[in-house]
Amino acid sequence: MKPESLMMSYGFKPELSEGAVKVPIFLTSTFVFKTAEEGKALFEIAYGKREKRESEELGLIYSRINNPVLEILENRLTLWDGAEDCAVFESGMAAITTVLLEFLKPGDLVLMSSPVYGGSDHFIKKILPKFGIHVLEFSVGECKEAVINIIEKSGMAEKLSLIYTETPANPTNDLVDIACTKEVAKYFSSKEKEVYVAVDNTYMGPVWQHPLKHGADLVLYSATKYIGGHSDLIAGACLGNKELLKRVKGMRTFLGNMASPHTCWMMLRSLETLKLRMDVQAENANKVAAFLNNHPKVEKVYFLGNITEGHPQYELKKRQCLTNGAMISFDVAGGEANAFRCLNALKLIKLAVSLGSTESLAEHPASMTHCDVDDADKKKFSITDKMIRLSVGVENYEDIISDISQALAFA
Ligand SMILES: *Cc1c(COP(=O)(O)O)cnc(C)c1O
Repeated sequence: MKPESLMMSYGFKPELSEGAVKVPIFLTSTFVFKTAEEGKALFEIAYGKREKRESEELGLIYSRINNPVLEILENRLTLWDGAEDCAVFESGMAAITTVLLEFLKPGDLVLMSSPVYGGSDHFIKKILPKFGIHVLEFSVGECKEAVINIIEKSGMAEKLSLIYTETPANPTNDLVDIACTKEVAKYFSSKEKEVYVAVDNTYMGPVWQHPLKHGADLVLYSATKYIGGHSDLIAGACLGNKELLKRVKGMRTFLGNMASPHTCWMMLRSLETLKLRMDVQAENANKVAAFLNNHPKVEKVYFLGNITEGHPQYELKKRQCLTNGAMISFDVAGGEANAFRCLNALKLIKLAVSLGSTESLAEHPASMTHCDVDDADKKKFSITDKMIRLSVGVENYEDIISDISQALAFA
């Protein structure tokens, strides 16, 4: 069955919860063992002191390690990406930083694509070096020889441990070729050490792009965005194979940054309408972009739908992205002053950061989400003062368009 058919039932046995149709919220910090022997066995498995026997299940111990709502949510999330396992976190940043800390150690080299989400950029470039981790960057659009060159020229090729990317890039919708990134990782892998590829799929996932199918080893989400989808929670997720997720969950146990039962329950509810919401958002975005493409006060529209035949990233887009997504950036003629006039005049669309929610949101990347990016990089990646970033919601598309239309009249 398709994931959307299973979001109401997968992984939950009503008979274990008084016949409840919905998963109850298990607000408990700890779980009673039937016997001391059972407690001992559960700890042996949870701490990896021995492998699980065929007949054994990893039972519940303590809610930092596992909780029924958390486990059911993780099982359901695996379906969208076709992943073996999933770990859910209290934020997208918690998921990202836990993966970076688990797969990197002092002396290692991490290669990141640029630009990435501001929080990830800050952690990789400003915090990881404090732990003796080296950082190299490549730009969206660059692959394979150019990237291999960057690594070889650095003289640290044998230290490469992780490639971290985000695609489409925020806020310009430029693409990174995941399969090509994996080839670079393979090129620098050896018998002793495998180089892994982690992809932040927040902008397209989990419905519109499936990085594991293109060779990624780990997929990361800010579940605050499409997965939560209602601007009412903060959460994150990491997906991949069992072996890697065992490491991620091990690190999570000791950092203690798993999502709470209440947040998990909210996400289970959100997942039931995930496909519905994202389908409408993608349809709406196509219509909003068509309007912006033809507006005299709009100089440039950054949208996957504008990557058409003849564009250098067209083949890649066709291979990697199932829709054009629902994120549109556009340059308003007249710079920051006009962009601000337009943002201030919006009535239906909320002036707020974040994305992927039921309501449409608009913001100014250069002074808000990307204010921390160096001026040179802003220029390089076209994050201009005249740019507005729009996350298209599920409202009637005609109302979204008429709101933008009346707001642009102030520009
Ligand atoms: C929002 C976001 C994050 C951070 O997620 P939080 O849930 O806010 O911690 C990471 N990556 C991308 C692409 C994002 O949009």
